[in-house]
Amino acid sequence: MKFYEYKAHEIFRKYGIPVPRGVLAAKPEDLTDPPIPCVVKAQVLVGGRGKAGGIKLAKTAEEARASATAILGMRIGPYTVRHVYAQEMLDIAQELYLSITIDRSARAALLMASALGGMDVESVPQEKIVRIHIPPLVGLQPYVLRNLAKRLGLPKEVATQVSEIAKKMYALFRGEDAELVEINPLAVLKDGRVVAGDAKLVVDDNAEYRHKEYADLPQDRTPLEEEAHDKGITFIQLDGDIGVIANGAGLTMATLDVLNLKGGKGGTFLDLGGTDDPEKVKQAFEILLKAKPSVIFLNIFGGITKADTVAIGVEQALKAYGSGVPVVARIKGVNEARAKEILADAGMHSVETMEEGAEMAVKLRGGA
Ligand code: GDP
Ligand code: MN
Repeated sequence: MKFYEYKAHEIFRKYGIPVPRGVLAAKPEDLTDPPIPCVVKAQVLVGGRGKAGGIKLAKTAEEARASATAILGMRIGPYTVRHVYAQEMLDIAQELYLSITIDRSARAALLMASALGGMDVESVPQEKIVRIHIPPLVGLQPYVLRNLAKRLGLPKEVATQVSEIAKKMYALFRGEDAELVEINPLAVLKDGRVVAGDAKLVVDDNAEYRHKEYADLPQDRTPLEEEAHDKGITFIQLDGDIGVIANGAGLTMATLDVLNLKGGKGGTFLDLGGTDDPEKVKQAFEILLKAKPSVIFLNIFGGITKADTVAIGVEQALKAYGSGVPVVARIKGVNEARAKEILADAGMHSVETMEEGAEMAVKLRGGA
């Protein structure tokens, strides 16, 4: 579960993390009395809003409404902006970075901090990021926070506040079953206060049952994902260009990984699950094609799902929406031979292994 910034700020407040005041607006007219001066910010579930033009400064209420007019309806990444948040403008002296996430291989939470906040954390040099594991049975100890402040080179007054915020962030992380809490920038103001400039919060979907209060949280589906969701199809858009169809989350993930290994990048994640209903397969294919993949890699293991019925669905879909997109198919399991025949007749590139398929997909996408 991902949270919009305004919603994340609400939760931050609950844990005592200082955040700027703000008002949410779906229409420019809703900003009758925004805090002035303010920053009008697009509420979308992706970062980099600043660069995309989704953040504007306003000195008067009128300017704030004009900014809202400009930002509402804007597209940022795959999203259309439906809400803006007019947030009290911060007089920033320094921007820090602070986050807590899960490091699965270390079986611990991972605190990351940097004195180079504000920019994309991915573009901060590795050596400028302080990483500290927080073992669950030990928690976030005061000496760790003192060490953190020292490594960031923070003056005492700032260090005290940052430590306090990190402590509350960890409480939130545990209390809300978060996978990620991130503040970038954590703003050191000219008056010396430290305030969360933005807020990113992702709560583990598996903990949904413990957080009924988030049941109606608007989710970050793209229009295609929404369409798929309505049809009961597991479909996720990624930032690559190769359309991946597999069955079962494990195989789908493995397929994406192997593609990556071979130099390709998944553009969609379509999990057929246990379906072999040709009609369902056809519907799934239709949605996939709308995402305009450069090549499709079908990787099916037919157990409960019968390989040949999946193949029939694919064949029908290709007939119906014949798109010229090359399809690489690796299909194994029940009625495999029959499935291969069907796919070959439909002009697909049949392969035996996942690795081979990934290589072929990468090659075909290069226009070979
Ligand atoms: P993001 O780009 O989606 O992460 O949006 P942020 O909320 O982090 O804002 C991006 C950048 O805009 C920040 O790093 C700041 O440099 C600037 N910014 C945002 N809000 C304020 C503000 O209240 N005051 C000032 N001075 N700059 C701001
Ligand atoms: Mn940010």
